[in-house]
Amino acid sequence: MRGEMPDYYIWTIGCQMNKAESERLGSFFEHLGYRPTDAAENADVIVLNSCVVRQSAENRVVNKIRALQSFARAHPGATLAVTGCLVNSDTTRLKKEFPHVDYFFKPGDCPPWLEKPEAILALPQRPSPATYVTIIQGCDNFCSYCIVPYRRGREVSRTISEIACEVKELVRRGVKEVTLLGQNVDSYGHDLPDKPDLADLLEELNKIDGLVRIRFLTNHPKDMSDKLIGAIARLDRVCEWISLPVQSGSDDILKLMRRGYTAAQYRQMVKRIRDTVPGVALSTDIIVGFPSETEAQFQETVNLLAALRFDTVHVAVYSPRPGTSASRELEDDIPAAVKRERLNIIEQLQEKIAAEINGQLLGTMAEILVESRVKDKWQGRTRTGKLVFFEDSRDFLGKLVSVRIEKTSPWSLQGTVDTSK
Ligand code: SAM
Ligand code: SF4
Repeated sequence: MRGEMPDYYIWTIGCQMNKAESERLGSFFEHLGYRPTDAAENADVIVLNSCVVRQSAENRVVNKIRALQSFARAHPGATLAVTGCLVNSDTTRLKKEFPHVDYFFKPGDCPPWLEKPEAILALPQRPSPATYVTIIQGCDNFCSYCIVPYRRGREVSRTISEIACEVKELVRRGVKEVTLLGQNVDSYGHDLPDKPDLADLLEELNKIDGLVRIRFLTNHPKDMSDKLIGAIARLDRVCEWISLPVQSGSDDILKLMRRGYTAAQYRQMVKRIRDTVPGVALSTDIIVGFPSETEAQFQETVNLLAALRFDTVHVAVYSPRPGTSASRELEDDIPAAVKRERLNIIEQLQEKIAAEINGQLLGTMAEILVESRVKDKWQGRTRTGKLVFFEDSRDFLGKLVSVRIEKTSPWSLQGTVDTSK
């Protein structure tokens, strides 16, 4: 403690929801007068925001908690808390396993030693020009492999008025782009009195003066409606960028995963999206080495990716999660080396596809929202989610600029800003 108020340190791994929740937590601490510090050893309050979606993530979390054991002993006055998807409703086991942790609290909850703030108090004072807003917590889907519904609970939507109020305040504080977050944003609103849907929410947010871009993730292919696709096409601030995880190209594997759609239905959905939203960029997620996945079934995934040509693919090897139905009912029978080989095949294919897609942008002008400066370069994104870097000594933070694309790679673009327009 350097002064009267505690210093805090937040460690975060995992998805955008964890990152958004950590950002809100940090803002709330700062509102209370806590000061940030960049090393756990210097902090009075340490919060670890955990992810357990794969075993490798859980191992990192457990190692981090264990590494802080001697710190906790040496600093009995410090507070160590753990949140995120490691924490479920029954914390008895966790408390027994990690007695040096003072508090465990569920993802998105208020730290238990503080009083729950009004949502507005947890908004960052100086937010990034592109920031995240959670619109729905939890997931009702229970895909057979996924631990999230067990940790984050059932779906709970925030009301349109609460979200709109928050976005207006964020815009007042300098935000230009919001990404609306949920594990399944397409089921937004079904639990609210008037049953609004995501298209209704987008319609409302699209009216906010000063907000220039809206994105949302993640969509579930079984729940994405034509009304939503129409709204994306029609509303000028909604970006042409959609995250639509397919997970596998094989119907047998999709069934075992309990995804609720077939590969053909997914392909039709992509066609409808592309026909309705010209120039749309698509991102997907894949799990390789799911129990019993044969070479032929894996090849169906490869064929689907080769045919649909996504802008981005996030690929992961299957990791059995205790408590899920897949881990109970299906043997994790694909050898690690085969899983790794399948992952490499997909990564190589996607690298080639992304290089071709991005290569077509060479020499074109792109509209970038500048989000940050990293080392000597400004960094921002196109409406289609492409990461763009440019060097310029002037201040462009939070501005929309036109950049001539001079270099492309599978992962990002580089160019020179054109201020003549
Ligand atoms: N809700 C989204 C959906 O429907 O796909 C994704 C949320 S999930 C937490 C993020 C990604 O983690 C998934 O798309 C999936 O690819 C991956 N994932 C989830 N559980 C996994 C597991 N047991 N093994 C490997 N990857 C997993
Ligand atoms: Fe997990 Fe499926 Fe829910 Fe996504 S939709 S969070 S993969 S259960």
